[in-house]
Amino acid sequence: MSKWEDNVRKVEPYVPGEQPNDTNIIKLNTNENPYPPSPMVMKAMQEVTEEGLRKYPDPTCSALIDALADYHKVNSANVFVGVGSDDVIATAFMTFFHSDKKILFPDISYSFYSVWASMMEIPFEKVPLADDFTISPEDYKKENGGIIFPNPNAPTAMLLEKGAIREILDANPDSVVIVDEAYVDFSGEDASVLDLIPEYENLLVTRTFSKSRSLAGLRIGYAIGNEKLIKYMSDVKYSYNSYTMNETSLKLGVESVKDDAYFKKTCDAIVNTRENFTKELLKLGFNVLPSKANFVFAGTDKMPASEIFAKARENHIFFRYFAQNRIDNFLRITIGTDEDMERVVRFLKDLLA
Ligand code: PMP
Repeated sequence: MSKWEDNVRKVEPYVPGEQPNDTNIIKLNTNENPYPPSPMVMKAMQEVTEEGLRKYPDPTCSALIDALADYHKVNSANVFVGVGSDDVIATAFMTFFHSDKKILFPDISYSFYSVWASMMEIPFEKVPLADDFTISPEDYKKENGGIIFPNPNAPTAMLLEKGAIREILDANPDSVVIVDEAYVDFSGEDASVLDLIPEYENLLVTRTFSKSRSLAGLRIGYAIGNEKLIKYMSDVKYSYNSYTMNETSLKLGVESVKDDAYFKKTCDAIVNTRENFTKELLKLGFNVLPSKANFVFAGTDKMPASEIFAKARENHIFFRYFAQNRIDNFLRITIGTDEDMERVVRFLKDLLA
């Protein structure tokens, strides 16, 4: 008997949300943005050239990095870009979580963290959220090989305030602390910890174009941090794939960053819809965790979340459900347009009547 399978890396993969072909659904299962990308992005799309596709893209991604550096008022040496924040975070795991000590992240959080850690054979510990689903800084004051958490957290949508993040950073000068800000553009002015980067050389902040910039299909993510962190990540990137970013993404990404008015307008629209939708859910008797993201996490005693999920699906409304301890009576519902959410409210009203 051949034993080649003994040498295979066997992993339990991350399960992404469904991407059904049916366009006749209200798709609120993967936190995409219901609004189209900036018109400037769509215009630049028409200008993709033969030359641009024939040649390799710029491995340094300088145009996009410079645009982001300009936008965030940092130096280009403080910015790293990748194929969605999944690629950026995976690169950060490979780069910074390279000790025998356990890395720490919340037990209820982005489920890709444990998948990457397992695949890369990084020891890890899932730190339980408090009973009210908050992250307690106290729990991160122990020996570790690195720390990562999303802010706002996913799938709870809850924001950890800056003072608490400072507390975690102050207690961990010897580890890289990654704050995954995939949803922070929906959290208000002072939620991001980008401004702490000059103070903490071990702080890496990751962001994505998939949610607030309506570009999940292009796959663009980035990280901002001390230039030493960025250099180490770049070295790792060039050690497995120099051309991570394709030419079209690099070009269109720049256009998105330029159109700040459109970006702000669509983010504001989603926040506004979220607040209205939350009120409606509360009226229907749902328990809704306080959301600072483009989704809400909610459940009701009137019907098991798994059942609401299944019934909604039959009615062409897609939510996300996690059959996981403590959150198995919650649904994660992405914020769509006002019209989408009005239909959802009508559906839930009828269902629970
Ligand atoms: N972090 C969190 C917390 C997320 O929910 C997601 C979206 N699945 C990502 C990172 C990755 O997003 P993307 O790769 O599209 O940038």
